[in-house]
Amino acid sequence: CGIVGYIGHRDAFPIIIEGLKRLEYRGYDSAGIALFDGTDLKVTKTKGKVVDLEDRIKNEITTNGTLGIGHTRWATHGVPNDVNAHPHYSNSGNLVIIHNGIIENYESLKKELSKRGYTFKSDTDTEVLINLIEDVKIKENVKLGKAVQVALNQVVGAYSIAVFDKNKPDEIVIARLGSPLAVGIGENEFFIASDASPFLEYTKNAIYLEDEEMAIIRANKEIKIRKIKDDSLVDPYVQELQM
Ligand code: GLU
Repeated sequence: CGIVGYIGHRDAFPIIIEGLKRLEYRGYDSAGIALFDGTDLKVTKTKGKVVDLEDRIKNEITTNGTLGIGHTRWATHGVPNDVNAHPHYSNSGNLVIIHNGIIENYESLKKELSKRGYTFKSDTDTEVLINLIEDVKIKENVKLGKAVQVALNQVVGAYSIAVFDKNKPDEIVIARLGSPLAVGIGENEFFIASDASPFLEYTKNAIYLEDEEMAIIRANKEIKIRKIKDDSLVDPYVQELQM
């Protein structure tokens, strides 16, 4: 039930792990992380606590990388286990997602995607969403941001999500409906989190996404926020946090 992300020039790993620990109060049954190290996408996830994730990472992956997303899961669809833990991949292995919330119409979407040849490793609604995004991206030959937008307009439910493409690892796409998402703004770096606590020590400048908004976040560019429904641009409202 927590999301943390980072894109910039620092090592993402410690920011994400410490951030996930600060979000533990929200409750969860599993934890996972995806890191991009400049060449490879590395994903580790586990049922259990963030400390269990740390233990597992020491055995499974190297932790360098300046782009990453991390998740704590409170299972709604599919039992708490390693496979159902986030992040989830698309079938091509290119797109990776973390998601808090529920995709209510996931069964009908899953049926459609299955007909189109998609297969699913987990029992989650989240894996359906990332494959829907991939299907839109390929079918309509659009960029990731557009694919996320088109896919979300077919979704009924509640979510905060963070998605990236290992073939275009200069951006993270985020969106929110009914589940909080804050963006911390640093110098040529951005932090993403369910609340500001994971990034307060790095920046006091934050944008809180409103419901039905999505954003494309690139390390050296301005954040672009749009309405999911009508694609209109939203002026970013940057708050100075007092904490
Ligand atoms: N519905 C998703 C799942 O069961 C996300 C749950 C959450 O909010 O952590 O995997």
